[in-house]
Amino acid sequence: MRGERREERGHFSHLSLLAPLAYASFIEELTLFYSMRRIDEIIIHCSATPEGRDYTVADITRWHMAKGFRTIGYHFVIYRDGSIHVGRPLAQVGAHCRGHNAHSIGVCYIGGLAVDGRTPCDTRTTAQKESLQHLIQVLRVRFPRIAVHGHRDYAPKACPSFDATAEYQI
Ligand SMILES: [Zn+2]
Repeated sequence: MRGERREERGHFSHLSLLAPLAYASFIEELTLFYSMRRIDEIIIHCSATPEGRDYTVADITRWHMAKGFRTIGYHFVIYRDGSIHVGRPLAQVGAHCRGHNAHSIGVCYIGGLAVDGRTPCDTRTTAQKESLQHLIQVLRVRFPRIAVHGHRDYAPKACPSFDATAEYQI
């Protein structure tokens, strides 16, 4: 049933939604950072934007630069259609979770707030859930012992509006 609906809407697998260029740079960065910094953790975030609204890497880059960051603080951003986009190069330390940036990868999905723009809410689309799972699986191939946590495990905030530690436990 679900498969039929997808076909009607002309969906492709999320892997094919990853632009070839982004995928090439993803592989390159994986290789690069493997020799550059120790990574032992994936930290999941939300963009803290209202349900049903699309934002891009460019938007988040602008917000983060306005806060004084060099560029976007996250390494990956997952759009509402499930496409996975590269943010800050993996070889570089991110800026997304105080005290945990040096050794982690920051992954952000677009959403995390109800339509009121205030109430924390797990707004992940089915495609976003699948892509998060897929990205974590890919990273686990390279880093078998990598841990997965949500931002809220380390800071007094709701981000990413769901229990990432429980959901992505091995
Ligand atoms: Zn966060």
